Amino acid sequence: MLSNSSEIFQLPGDVSNKIAAGEVVERPINVVKELVENAVDASSEKITVEIAEGGLSLIKVQDDGRGIVPDDIEKSIDRFATSKITDINDVYELYSFGFRGEALAAISSVCDFSLVSKRKGYDCLELKSSFGGQPVVKPAAGTEGTVVTVKNLFGNLPARRKFLKSPNAEQREIVKFIRHFMLTNYHLSLRLIVDEKEYLFFPRNDSMIDRAAKVFKEQKLVYLTNKYENLHIEAVISTPEVQKFRRDNIVLSVNGRVIKDNMLTQSVIQAYKRLIPEGKFPLAAIRLNISPGDMDINVHPAKLFVKFLNSGEIFSFVYGSILEKLESLTPGGYDSDNYTNLNETAETKIKSFQNSYNPEEQVSVSDFLTAVDTSVSSDESDNMEEVYGYDFRIAGQLFNTVIICEFDDFFYMIDQHIAHERILYEKYKAESSVDTASVVLSEPLVIDLEEEEREILISNKKILCDFGFDFESFGGGTVKFSKLPSEILNKDVVSEIKNILEETSRLSKKGLKDSSLVVMSCKSAIKAGEKLSRYEMSHLVNKLLKTKNPFTCPHGRPIIVTQSKEELFKNFHR
Ligand code: ADP
Ligand code: MG
Repeated sequence: MLSNSSEIFQLPGDVSNKIAAGEVVERPINVVKELVENAVDASSEKITVEIAEGGLSLIKVQDDGRGIVPDDIEKSIDRFATSKITDINDVYELYSFGFRGEALAAISSVCDFSLVSKRKGYDCLELKSSFGGQPVVKPAAGTEGTVVTVKNLFGNLPARRKFLKSPNAEQREIVKFIRHFMLTNYHLSLRLIVDEKEYLFFPRNDSMIDRAAKVFKEQKLVYLTNKYENLHIEAVISTPEVQKFRRDNIVLSVNGRVIKDNMLTQSVIQAYKRLIPEGKFPLAAIRLNISPGDMDINVHPAKLFVKFLNSGEIFSFVYGSILEKLESLTPGGYDSDNYTNLNETAETKIKSFQNSYNPEEQVSVSDFLTAVDTSVSSDESDNMEEVYGYDFRIAGQLFNTVIICEFDDFFYMIDQHIAHERILYEKYKAESSVDTASVVLSEPLVIDLEEEEREILISNKKILCDFGFDFESFGGGTVKFSKLPSEILNKDVVSEIKNILEETSRLSKKGLKDSSLVVMSCKSAIKAGEKLSRYEMSHLVNKLLKTKNPFTCPHGRPIIVTQSKEELFKNFHR
């Protein structure tokens, strides 16, 4: 065996660039994306993209951004040359799209490349390079901004070309990216020219909903916005009557970057769960803004995926924000001053429950928002401060049961189960004073009850009827229900009735007049032992503070235990 031969050696720069190019630039769409993102990073407001043959023969991106100073023009295509970060920590404080300094190096090594750029007050130059060969820089004529022209993409890599789809398919990908990108960056103007004809045009300063109407070609859309700590969402979503067969019309972005993320997609789909049938999907454009430090965008070469530090929090925030908006749209919903529609709403709800309800299914913690949110007014997006403006800070959750929050010079310990019960109690009570939502059954429900249960039913008839029951009792234990409160219709109705009777009996012994309300309020409340996200906690506390009596529960148990900062500090001899 030869002992002094070596098999490992450093690849020449042009070879390593071509290999790296494979990660960043796999297909024409990647080139378009990198060039458009560079234009936006350069503060451009008007961008023109031109493609021919699906990007294979031509991709040209022209912008009106700040341009490149003459001394930097050659550096722009060097690998790891960037003006956007200087330190690795900058990646976590970043608002720009680029930062790796790889794109132009990669792109220019796999095409006939030209970059013409002019910074205000400087000369305009053109850099040309062919398939990674020696760059040539010459004076050129041009206005402020940058034009990058990519011709004969992958002309030097026949193997790569073989993996591409047809020019039409590549073009579709590019058009899709541009639509989605422009949905997210709706203030920007962009013109797309395909095979020498104008294909798309978006003017500057569209509102998000106008832009979404153009991109989705749909009018049944609503706008929403919400914020919680350093999470901010702005979104346009379709009303429930819009039902699509594909989920790829759920467009997600984080800090302006279009991303794919299954968790976020699910948070949108789940919010529509009871409104549109399974297997159908809404249209949605979600713009999420989070502190760059709360996510990692450096986990995918094309930055298509991101990693969130706290994905549970983000899930419930997006889910809750969309759900709240959707509930406010429900005709005759609980917020409406028109209660005559209540039955109709209940009926629609039941139908969709019957279609979608699966008793085996676990109800997620986030589902509690459904019950809570119905009391939020519909036009709250304009005065979010009023809804979310209580100035408390959620400090955390103890034993998955007690929420700790801080408010002025006090701290509060809130029992999550009892708090939720209070919120539901007041909600139900408000409804029952104008007749509880109930549903007249087209076929009466006939069930057999124990003798004792039947007695409770009869002796509490008024309370139960107030709550939306109506029934007739026959001989033996047979009872015929003709009306049921809509609240129990998505549950196992018979065992729900039995539970209610048991609770009613227990509470009426204590002399509670509106015992059925109390019963109801226990039913769907969040339990002790359920882990809540901070958003869910904050939401719950906000609702609690709006109730008439946030301090004690309908059974008389305390909800909030409080102590002052002073008292607390005394323990530490401060
Ligand atoms: P990155 O975007 O990661 O910094 P690129 O290879 O995409 O890396 O670009 C390298 C550098 O070239 C950028 O940091 C920027 O300074 C400059 N540049 C690229 N495109 C443009 C443009 N359209 N306008 C102004 N400067 C640009
Ligand atoms: Mg870039």
